Amino acid sequence: MKIRRILVTGGAGFLGSHICDRLVAQGHDVICVDNFFTSQKVNVAHLLGKPNFELIRHDVTHPLWLEVDEIYNAACPAAPGHYQYNPIKTMKTSVMGAINVLGMAKRCKAKVLQFSTSEVYGDPSVHPQPESYRGNVNPIGIRACYDEGKRAAETLFFDYHRSNHVNIRVVRIFNTYGPRMHPFDGRVVSNFIRQALNGEDITIFGEGKQSRSFCFVDDLVEGIIRMMNGPDSFIGPVNLGNPVEFTMKQLAEIVIELCQSKSRLVYKPMPADDPSQRQPDITLAKANLGGWEPKVQLREGLAKTIAYFRALNLDQFRPPTPNF
Ligand code: NAD
Ligand code: UDP
Repeated sequence: MKIRRILVTGGAGFLGSHICDRLVAQGHDVICVDNFFTSQKVNVAHLLGKPNFELIRHDVTHPLWLEVDEIYNAACPAAPGHYQYNPIKTMKTSVMGAINVLGMAKRCKAKVLQFSTSEVYGDPSVHPQPESYRGNVNPIGIRACYDEGKRAAETLFFDYHRSNHVNIRVVRIFNTYGPRMHPFDGRVVSNFIRQALNGEDITIFGEGKQSRSFCFVDDLVEGIIRMMNGPDSFIGPVNLGNPVEFTMKQLAEIVIELCQSKSRLVYKPMPADDPSQRQPDITLAKANLGGWEPKVQLREGLAKTIAYFRALNLDQFRPPTPNF
């Protein structure tokens, strides 16, 4: 294997830190860049002593001069409470961050992979969502800073590819969960597990009939690495996620059962523009990524995530924003 120098932006975050793990274990020279807005150093602390790992505190809205062969661009708050906290900054992170990594990729002739999202489909009227579906996003709603920021980033990736021959990859990630999610990120899996383990009420938004399809982090990381290393003829966008769909009420009941919790379900108002359903069509990924498909069932993945949360000392975690 040829050792490559690889930049992971947002590399201290939930997904980014798992990508760093994989790349460091493969022997690559890994540079992790993060401003620690929604993460803490603990996610990569185990990598700090390794000779092939380097950590830089930096905000991707500002240019950075590095020499690299590959870039995984994961920097962006991903939980609704966090990306809505400073929506203008969220848009800047997506757009300026994309411009900065694409500029670097163009200069270094590096390959660059964008962490896009199922949110580009908005509240979808086509179900499940294939990559050809152009989405139903409210451009002026409270989720738009993230959705439209990610859509603009995809546009930039394809324009740099068409205009400047930058070697790109775009993956559209559907809800992913697992160890190293921030315990105070306000996302549904981390919220429900934290609440169930503490015997607190489980907060269901709306009637809990809205659905999501949850992918365990190991399955997603495998798909992302395959995409980066696949042929230059397949640049995406490609959906990566687990197609098995659950309602939020079903998820709450499974979490209560697995945590053996006495928590009660309580119902809170539904946030604006919350998609009512979401399920990836992964036909394209299967066909082009060596038959890739998720292997970890929800209960198995939740059990691993619950074990991680049980071992956490919550006092050591700083809520990134008051919105969780
Ligand atoms: P996360 O919040 O744990 O990770 C994001 C990381 O980016 C954090 O470490 C954060 O500190 C860093 N960051 C944020 N703004 C930055 C900036 N301006 N400069 C430098 N670093 C910055 O979230 P995650 O779930 O790991 O998401 C990673 C990427 O995957 C994001 O781009 C997100 O949009 C995308 N994604 C995630 C999911 C999911 O379900 N987890 C779904 C779709 C897309
Ligand atoms: N949700 C919920 N209770 C919570 C947090 C979230 O019912 O405590 C719902 C939320 O309204 C959404 C779904 O769970 O319908 C997934 O929310 P999350 O923030 O994890 O991600 P999204 O897919 O909306 O970006």
